[in-house]
Amino acid sequence: MLPVVALVGRPNVGKSTLFNRLTNSRDALVADYPGLTRDRKYGQARYGEHDFILVDTGGIEGDEKGIDAAMARQSLLAMEEADVVMLLVDARDGLTAADQAIARHIRQLGKPVFLVANKVDGIDGDSACAEFWGLSLGEVWQIAAAHGRGVTQLLDNALIPVVAELAQVEDEASEALSDILGQELVDVDAIEDEEEAEAIPYADLPVKIAIVGRPNVGKSTLTNRILGEERVVVFDMPGTTRDSVYIPMERDGKNYIIIDTAGVRRRGRIDDTVEKFSVVKTLQAIEDANVVLLTMDAREGLSDQDLNLLGHVLNAGRALVLVVNKWDGLSVEDREEIKRELDRRLGFIDFARLHFISALHGSGVGNLFESISEAFASATQRVSTSKLTRILQMAQDDHQPPLVSGRRVKLKYAHAGGYNPPRIIIHGNQVEKLPQSYKRYLMNYYRKSLQVIGTPIHVEFQEGD
Ligand code: GDP
Ligand code: GDP
Repeated sequence: MLPVVALVGRPNVGKSTLFNRLTNSRDALVADYPGLTRDRKYGQARYGEHDFILVDTGGIEGDEKGIDAAMARQSLLAMEEADVVMLLVDARDGLTAADQAIARHIRQLGKPVFLVANKVDGIDGDSACAEFWGLSLGEVWQIAAAHGRGVTQLLDNALIPVVAELAQVEDEASEALSDILGQELVDVDAIEDEEEAEAIPYADLPVKIAIVGRPNVGKSTLTNRILGEERVVVFDMPGTTRDSVYIPMERDGKNYIIIDTAGVRRRGRIDDTVEKFSVVKTLQAIEDANVVLLTMDAREGLSDQDLNLLGHVLNAGRALVLVVNKWDGLSVEDREEIKRELDRRLGFIDFARLHFISALHGSGVGNLFESISEAFASATQRVSTSKLTRILQMAQDDHQPPLVSGRRVKLKYAHAGGYNPPRIIIHGNQVEKLPQSYKRYLMNYYRKSLQVIGTPIHVEFQEGD
């Protein structure tokens, strides 16, 4: 479970600038798929070994009406879901009444908070920031998000130590879950080397499945359909601020754990249907899953939110099964039209299986499990260094790497660097000069040669031996 950091503050203080700076490095995969756009509000950040979810809450002025008030409410909700809050203020504007209103609210939350004064470039930071001490939020961290100044200090000395501590608490919660399930839950994506991978009995691991999608696509209906009439044990993950629900189940002798983002089987709680959908909860479920069932609504067509969620799944590197729900009661013409649209707009995700189902009537639901198992098997398949190197050689024989200033880029060997998603690390000379098109060619070559279905692949390059 990734810690969640909310960025709050008035409009124009530099929240999106800081958001972009902190999340850009994790966007490699989205960049590989031209059909996707970034989610400008929710991103994953990685700093050293530390990952966290960053939420840009949009602006709060403190005196919103109408639509602005609704947006401010979203910001407040995001703060409530967050583990850590970063309040951004503008060092050039000085302290404003809105800053004070937001700070008052934050103090009531009782969460770790960092006060960050932005835009200290070209001004005397210390004197500009003196008045922010009046907000009683402790140290004022001076940065210039646009130029990166002060950002490393902010991360090293403030944010990351807290994020690391939270990650530890969540790890302990994960262990508690393993105990209760009586089954070890292995963080498959944390395994890096082949020897370590050898020791893991992948076939016996319970596959964690996240059922995600925007509101009303039928997640609860699908979850109930999959679980059937069985009495299920619902496990509320302790020690976390979000209400993640983990439901172990068995099917054809294999174990699965459904990560329920819709909260359908939550004990003794009536969900507020308006607020039950939470992007943060969805992102955490994606991160913690092995396989994601991205559920869409046949009647609504593909929305930006569907594509944003897809981007998050790919960025997290999770195995993926695409589900188009509510396939019942549609005319033949409608079905053809929907298939054409999906083909046109999702054609770039040609590696994932696409299922047309009716969660309400149950048709097609059973077949999902074949694709789930197939995707998990692909995501965790172990391939020897010699085989990966042989494929690399064949790929170069079929299509040579380009010349760079008269010298040919030389790719020497490849080995596995991780699982779920499969990571392939290629060593060679001048690898940083390799064009994106050739990298994509290699990725596709590996995908075909290894028959990888249902998961993105990461191909990384290292200079030298
Ligand atoms: P948001 O509304 O809080 O998301 O603010 P933006 O990130 O959109 O930034 C608002 C304006 O402040 C933009 O014109 C940015 O270029 C500018 N800005 C952001 N960071 C800095 C900075 O470090 N220094 C200066 N001088 N301007 C900045
Ligand atoms: P969630 O918000 O994603 O959990 O969506 P729900 O499972 O609550 O479903 C939203 C609405 O869609 C409910 O009225 C369901 O009865 C309906 N629904 C769900 N699955 C299907 C389906 O396969 N076919 C039809 N026709 N309606 C469905």
